[in-house]
Amino acid sequence: MGEGDGLRDYRGRRDFGRTGEPAGRGASALRGEPRFVVQIHDASTLHFDFRLQVANVLRSWSVPKGPSADPGDKRLAVPTEDHPLEYEEFEGVIPAGEYGGGTVIVWDHGTYEPLSHDRRGRPVDFGESLAHGHARFRLRGAKLRGEYALTRFRGGRDGDQEEAWLLVRTATGGARGRGTPDPRRARSARTGRTLARVAAEGGAK
Ligand code: MN
Repeated sequence: MGEGDGLRDYRGRRDFGRTGEPAGRGASALRGEPRFVVQIHDASTLHFDFRLQVANVLRSWSVPKGPSADPGDKRLAVPTEDHPLEYEEFEGVIPAGEYGGGTVIVWDHGTYEPLSHDRRGRPVDFGESLAHGHARFRLRGAKLRGEYALTRFRGGRDGDQEEAWLLVRTATGGARGRGTPDPRRARSARTGRTLARVAAEGGAK
C-alpha cells in the first residue's frame, strides 16, 4: 500500500469488463489543492471509504463507522489499495461477485489543506507524513469541514502486522460537530441520491 505501488493492486483486483469503476488510465493530478472523497459502500459490510489525493493517486482507508465531526470520536481506519483520481466521481453498483460488490455513493468530497509540520514548525511533505504514520489536514467539503488527523497505531514498520489507523477530528478552536449520519439515509453530495436509490437505478450517473 506504500508509495510507488501505483495502481497495480487496484487494477489487479478488478475486471473492468464487469465493473463500472474507473480503470484510472490517463488522469494525472491537476494543479491546485489536493482532493478528498468519502464514499459510502454497501458491500459485504456497510462501511465508509476515506480517500485523500497524494500526487497521482487517492490514498485510501476503509472506515467502518465513518468519519465523525465530533472530536470525541476516534474512528478506526484500515488502509486499502490506492485508487485512481477518477474514483472521486464514482457512484454506482459494483456487480455481485466482483471485488467490493455492492452500491457506492459519494457522501462528501472537496479539497483539503495539508497541515503536517515538523518540530520547528516547517511544513512536511504530506506523503512523507503519512509514511511516518501521522498526518494532519483541513477538509473543505460540502459536509466535512475542519481539521482532522490520521494516526497509525499498529503495523507499518516490519510489515508483519496489518496496519490500523485512527481518523479523528482535531479539537481546535472549540471544534464541535455532530457525529456521522445514518449511512442508509445519507445522501450523495454529487447527486442527492441515497444508497437505496442508486441501487434501484443501477449504474453510474
Ligand atoms: Mn469500500
